[in-house]
This record gives sequence, C-alpha cells and structure tokens, in this order.
Amino acid sequence: MIDQVIHELKNYGGRPVKIMEVCGTHTASIFKNGIRTIISPRIQLISGPGCPVCVTSSAYIDELTEYSLKENHCVLTFGDMMKVRGSRMSLTEAKAAGGRVKILYSPLTAIGEAEENRRIQYVFAAVGFETTAPVYALLLEEILQRKIENLKLMTSIKTIVPALSFLCEKEKAIDGFLSPGHVSVITGCGAYRKLAFQYQKPFVIAGFEGEHILAAVYEILLQTRKQCFEVKNLYASAVTEEGNQKAAALINRYFEAGDGLWRGIGVIEKSALRLRKEYRIYDAGRKKEEREEHMPVGCKCSDVILGRINPPDCPLFKTACTPLHAIGPCMVSQEGACGIWYQNF
Ligand code: SF4
Repeated sequence: MIDQVIHELKNYGGRPVKIMEVCGTHTASIFKNGIRTIISPRIQLISGPGCPVCVTSSAYIDELTEYSLKENHCVLTFGDMMKVRGSRMSLTEAKAAGGRVKILYSPLTAIGEAEENRRIQYVFAAVGFETTAPVYALLLEEILQRKIENLKLMTSIKTIVPALSFLCEKEKAIDGFLSPGHVSVITGCGAYRKLAFQYQKPFVIAGFEGEHILAAVYEILLQTRKQCFEVKNLYASAVTEEGNQKAAALINRYFEAGDGLWRGIGVIEKSALRLRKEYRIYDAGRKKEEREEHMPVGCKCSDVILGRINPPDCPLFKTACTPLHAIGPCMVSQEGACGIWYQNF
C-alpha cells in the first residue's frame, strides 16, 4: 500500500498544491524522512504557526525579563524560551545581567522550588498550546491545594483551532492542512469539522512517522482531486472524535478563552487561554492588552508562520540569522521552522 502511495506522490502531475503542516514535530519528521525528496515538486509542504515559543509576543518576554531582574523574584521557564528576544533582551541576556531565571523540565517541579524558598516570588512562564494547558491547570490546582503564595503563572497559552480558522480566512493559497497530532489528542478531530465544511479544505490528522505523513499528503491530494473536503483521522491510535475530555474539563475549570496576540500574526479572536476571573490573583501577567507586535528589521518570521514562504526565502536565513545568533523567534526554538530548516537544509 505505502509503495503505491509513494508512486502516486512521486508522479503527481496535477495542479500545484500547498499543504501546511501545522506542528513543528511534523516539520522535523518531514526532513528526517526525506519526504520532499520522495514527492513531486508540485506538492509544496509549508510550515505553520505550531511553535508556541515562536508566536509568543515580545511584550510577554519583556515582562518576564523585568520580573527576573526584580529583587526577590525568579522566573521559571522551559529551556526553549531562554533565547527568544523581547523588544529589549532575552531571558539569557537578563540572566547574564544578574536576573534570576531557572530552567525547569516539568511545570510541577515549580511547587517544590516555591516551597523551599518562601521569600522568593516565583513566576512560571506558562507558554504552550492545548497540549500543555492541562499541566498548567494541574499546577494551579496544586498551588491552591497547598496554599502556595509565592508562585504565580504568567500565561501565554494559545489554541490552534482559532489560528487555523484565521489562516483559512486570510491565506487562501493553502489547499489543505496536516493537522497537529499532539494538539488533536486533546481537541479531538471533531474540532476541525466546522472548518473543513466552512472553508472546503481537507484537515488530515496523522502521526509522526514518515509513512503516516505520506499517507496524509496522499489523502489531501485525493480530497483535492475529488473536490470533496472533510476531516480524516489517520492517527486513530491516539486521536478520537471528542479528544481527551478529562483534560478539556481540567482546562475549562481554570481557563477561559480570550483574544490572543500571536507574534508575526497579530490578534486572533478567542485564541488564548486566560485564567478565569476567580483565579486571576495567580496570574502574574500584565493587565494591559497588547494589540501590536513589531518584528526585528528584515525578519520574515511573519511570512514563515503564515506559510507564505519557506525559511530559505528569508534573506537573513543562514547569513545574519543562525541558531547561535538568532534574529527572529522561528530560529530559536527546536520547534521553530527556521531552526529546523537550518539543521537540515
Ligand atoms: Fe526570522 Fe531568521 Fe527565520 Fe529570517 S531566518 S524569518 S530572520 S527567524
């Protein structure tokens, strides 16, 4: 069966199609498995906004760096966030300037940290998508149960489905979506049905092995050829129609939808998860809503995130912008399209 799929994809001679893989893990797997060398050049695979670090606003980074430099404060974060620059500096630079920043591998370890050092005010950088939101909900649950007063979250949690809706509305050149595998475990494939119907686009959910991705690309081509668009779940071992309802209930208990500022895109309605009113005292975030984002001069991250170009089309790619000297956020994170292309191109 897979041989037949490869044969079809290699010899595809139909109209050129543009398929967006939304998550960075798919982008990495496309390179690892040499998918672009297997399929016809008429099938263009482009990356999307599925790297949480890349779409986190510079105003958010600015506030984290300010906290790290404040007396008796400490910022807790995942390692990926360290090198992303705000409008003034990154957390790495803030640390070099005397700021207090600690890298954690699991949000729940923040509890022990806060309990051991009661005189320090901890701020946890809660960045991510639907996949990590349940863990942040559990963290807050622990904070409440243990009555911890020196640990707060600073949230920049985003949801993918409103972003996909935005892309369908604005980026008409995208013919189909390879839906994000991990996010779909939480949301379920039912989350894409309205979009598939409304915008007449294929949404195909796939695992991360090479043959899973090839099968998904083939399915998108089939739907495009038949002009019959729907959601297809090719990752049934992990993704159900309704998703993980326990996780969704946990998210809903503590978070509600709000407008989210995506770096490189702007504000997308109802695309952020904010702490509910009754839990806002545990939110270290700013009260002022940011509406605009300024990208570094010459950086094309916005076009990369929106799938208009691939990273090598940015004039700074591999010249002025490298992982060691990243200019835009897409070069910084392991899930960022520019960083992945840099390692493999
Ligand atoms: Fe931005 Fe660098 Fe990517 Fe260009 S190569 S889009 S500057 S991150």
